[in-house]
Amino acid sequence: MSRIVCGVDLGGTKISTGLVTEDGKVINSIKIPTLAAEGPEAVIDRIIKSVNDVLEMSGLKLEDIAGIGIGSPGPLDAEKGVIITTPNLPGWNNLPLVEKVKEKLNTNVKLDNDANAAAYGEYIFGEGRGIKNFMYITVSTGIGGGVVLNGKLLHGANSNAAEIGHMTIDFNGPRCNCGNLGCFEAFASGTGLARFANETVNKGRESLMKELAGSNPIKAEQIFEAARKGDALALELIEKEGFYLGVGLANLMVVYNPEKIAIGGGVSKQWDMFYDNMIKTAKERVLRPNFEVCSVVPAKLGDNIGVLGAAAIALEL
Ligand SMILES: [Zn+2]
Repeated sequence: MSRIVCGVDLGGTKISTGLVTEDGKVINSIKIPTLAAEGPEAVIDRIIKSVNDVLEMSGLKLEDIAGIGIGSPGPLDAEKGVIITTPNLPGWNNLPLVEKVKEKLNTNVKLDNDANAAAYGEYIFGEGRGIKNFMYITVSTGIGGGVVLNGKLLHGANSNAAEIGHMTIDFNGPRCNCGNLGCFEAFASGTGLARFANETVNKGRESLMKELAGSNPIKAEQIFEAARKGDALALELIEKEGFYLGVGLANLMVVYNPEKIAIGGGVSKQWDMFYDNMIKTAKERVLRPNFEVCSVVPAKLGDNIGVLGAAAIALEL
């Protein structure tokens, strides 16, 4: 019988928990609110309950699974299984999550940051299958990623390798949420794109985006919607989005030399709108041998990537 593992995707607003077979089939999964304001102990109890519930739904017992993988926002120490601190989970300071879950569920438990887990999930179950040097990037409200080199997930000294959203693209650029100037994420995330749209419209440029947003700030989806209807400003912004992503890709191809990069997250659903300009820009800016060996594709795992990624981490137990 194929091995079964449990993947827990711990987020600031929801916890998704699923049982996954070693070939990537989700047997059952559930999603519950995190209720992070109630503090770590209450959230850990909900994690335990979600694992027990999904086992019960599937007619399985704890002994039937090889272990539990948890993907969480960081910074965290994957090796020690400790959450160092995270803005999305108030009160979680140097919290030994792996130890605490093990105390209540007597099984193997492994922790990694959510972007690394997603990258590993895409490597094991998705576009990275059989690709020894692989990279996954998520472009949504922020930008994150993970790198697999020679078949091993890259962690770095304290599990913060490949925090690619915070590499500097322009040292005079806009302020990022992390406090630095000109991070990749400040330019090319959905949030960055929306900020450029709002700034330009607020300066008086006419655009369909303004009507789509009504009295609210313009959102990234509305920029793509307006661009598909031929709006000139929205098309300009999407052109820039492709350019910034291309600059980021060029840096990543130079540093990590992957054979394949898969891009996931909300923005990647608009693939046809930015792909050509992104690739053209990367090609102009990267060392030719690094460019030629690397394909860039949309990620395969979609919305289930959190649970599948955490499960992939558990398969290493
Ligand atoms: Zn930053």
